[in-house]
Amino acid sequence: MTKPTVLITGASTGIGAIYADRFARRGHDLVLVARDQVRMEAVAARLRQETGVAVDILQADLTQATELATVEARLRDDASIGILVNNAGTGIGGSFIEQSTDSVAHLVALNTTALLRLASAIAPRLAKSGEGAIVNIGSVVGLAPEFSMTVYGATKAFVLFLSQGLSLELGPKGVYVQAVLPATTRTEIWDHVGADVNTLSNVMEVGDLVDAALVGFDRRETVTIPPLPDAGQWEAYDATRQAMLPGFRNAQPAERYRKSA
Ligand code: NAP
Repeated sequence: MTKPTVLITGASTGIGAIYADRFARRGHDLVLVARDQVRMEAVAARLRQETGVAVDILQADLTQATELATVEARLRDDASIGILVNNAGTGIGGSFIEQSTDSVAHLVALNTTALLRLASAIAPRLAKSGEGAIVNIGSVVGLAPEFSMTVYGATKAFVLFLSQGLSLELGPKGVYVQAVLPATTRTEIWDHVGADVNTLSNVMEVGDLVDAALVGFDRRETVTIPPLPDAGQWEAYDATRQAMLPGFRNAQPAERYRKSA
């Protein structure tokens, strides 16, 4: 049986380039998406030579509507693509009042809007065929407003929620949806936020991160948090959230919000 082609965004470096390496070694043909054509050519040439898979390159700035549309069209129309790795993303430095309005809007465009549009482009076709997978790269920051990366974390909270909702919607149709939540991982993203990764502690190597994420992928986990030692903590957190759901179904405000006579 032919293995599905994997389209990976942000595949020119970092986590995306390692996903490309690992899926190529599993025998999947690839479509690499990013802005830097030269770097993608280098990744593609090495993987073609080392693994023999076919590697196609789609140069696109995913914050530009027309370029994003070409990737959406490819996902809609190319029936060989069965796995989307929604990985492209970035961060910005500074506090909220230091970040310009345009820079936070740009962050949202890449980390959420592009990711959403690409998932929306491929999902109907996968649901129709009854198979396939969408992997969305979030972050533990999406669970931690305390980490002082507010807008970045908000985009990653979106990624987690979207993935959980899509998993509920698409899972019964045979489509697997995974959210991967890395913590600090050694990639160039830290240069973009103005931090020297060598000064940070507890940095995961990018190969270890992706290999762990793929263990979660193979187990069909909905949420994979590679650095978290105690999986029971995530399960307890999610169980607490679910326990609130019946409490949302009340026609009357809770007692504490009623004005005392
Ligand atoms: P990275 O090394 O900076 O790589 C980011 C990738 O996204 C590159 O391939 C880059 O390629 C691409 N990209 C950036 N802007 C783009 C645009 N406008 N259009 C298309 N592609 C674009 O970062 P990374 O650490 O591997 O990040 C990958 C994902 O992991 C992101 O979603 C990030 O938020 C998430 N993550 C990372 C960490 C970490 O500590 N590293 C932790 C948690 C989550 P071009 O420059 O060639 O376009």
